[in-house]
Amino acid sequence: MSPRKISILGSTGSIGRSTLDVVVRHPGEFDVVALAANSNVELLASQCRRFRPKYACLVDSSKVKELHSQLGDQKVEVLAGSDELVKLAGMEDIDLVVNAVVGAAGLLASLETVSNMDKSLALANKESLVAGGPLFPEILKRTGSRILPIDSEHSALWQSLTSGKADEVRRLIITASGGPFRELPTNKFDSITPEQALEHPTWKMGPKITIDSATLANKGLEVIEAVALFDMPVEKVSVVIHPQSIVHSMVEYVDSSIIAQLSNPDMRLPITYALFWPNRVQSEFGQLDLNKLSSFTFEPPNFQKFSALRLAFEVAKSGGTAPAVFNAANEVAVEAFLGGSIKFTGITDIIYRAVEKIDFISSPDLKDILKADSQARELARQTVEKLKCL
Ligand code: NDP
Ligand code: MG
Repeated sequence: MSPRKISILGSTGSIGRSTLDVVVRHPGEFDVVALAANSNVELLASQCRRFRPKYACLVDSSKVKELHSQLGDQKVEVLAGSDELVKLAGMEDIDLVVNAVVGAAGLLASLETVSNMDKSLALANKESLVAGGPLFPEILKRTGSRILPIDSEHSALWQSLTSGKADEVRRLIITASGGPFRELPTNKFDSITPEQALEHPTWKMGPKITIDSATLANKGLEVIEAVALFDMPVEKVSVVIHPQSIVHSMVEYVDSSIIAQLSNPDMRLPITYALFWPNRVQSEFGQLDLNKLSSFTFEPPNFQKFSALRLAFEVAKSGGTAPAVFNAANEVAVEAFLGGSIKFTGITDIIYRAVEKIDFISSPDLKDILKADSQARELARQTVEKLKCL
């Protein structure tokens, strides 16, 4: 069989690099046709030297000159800007697009990929499914394209869902590590620093999702993602805290059987599953030594302490533009927290304010979603300014 033609959007990030690692471990299986990043010229150029893609895309066009000079006489077609990223997602000679961009910046590329019947979307960029949830079903139905989830919980659900029929599912049980502040008293939350929040107990990830994991907004995004991906009512989705991050999620069926997926926490595992689906292939990573697992614990999430998760359930129930607003406000707030402008608790406050204030549309089109996203960002920026003055 000829190698599958693959494009990796966000190749310089944590998931992008892990994807390239999986590609390297399976020689002859993939032909890397395109790589894309935001502004990390050095790493993108070095990836181009190693993987020799046909296209390299840099969203930050101010750095394109630098990319050309680093590439020297290497034959790569350089594309620049966010429109070109979207074009890349729909290019003719690509079978599989891995979307590992961070944030709703990946939305249009995800939509473009699934608008092509001959392409599959291996999706790490959960924000695109959260923000654009109402738009995907009609496109997927029309084109027959597929979304192959990379997020570890959704990969686990996807695998566990093969044990029964859709109408036999009682509930999806999404596991959460609980983040670094699971046991910290709420009255200490105001003094959490970015450095502390960036120390995740079990996963090594990019900065935005690491902060999302500390507020549990990530789990909230994952609840909304599961509703969209598996067409499940939110009432059938629950979250359980499992600090060991070994059980990646579970499905409970009507006969009360629970089917789970277990492995060591290594994102290369769900990436491999998505890239090779419907087949399973040998992996050298992720293997569990059950004799060395001392304890396995499960507990309910503390919705009072981590109220972003509670809000995410409400937002998932509302649907429409509410998830896009939740997501956009969170993106702005996380950036402000990482930049030292607001306190840790300000992140959740900013999301609440945006969800409360921005006009709600129940059956939005793309224009409505993009408008809600930009209104939420604007309001979140204003709230950051207000919080700074306190
Ligand atoms: P990183 O921050 O490590 O990487 C983000 C990637 O996106 C980089 O390649 C970055 O380029 C690129 N990027 C940033 N902004 C833009 C933009 N505006 N347009 C196009 N590309 C952009 O993030 P992660 O790899 O951790 O996460 C990526 C996605 O995967 C997120 O949606 C996250 O929620 C999801 N995910 C991540 C997991 C993990 O283990 N890391 C686990 C499950 C899901 P540059 O380097 O040039 O800035
Ligand atoms: Mg996850």
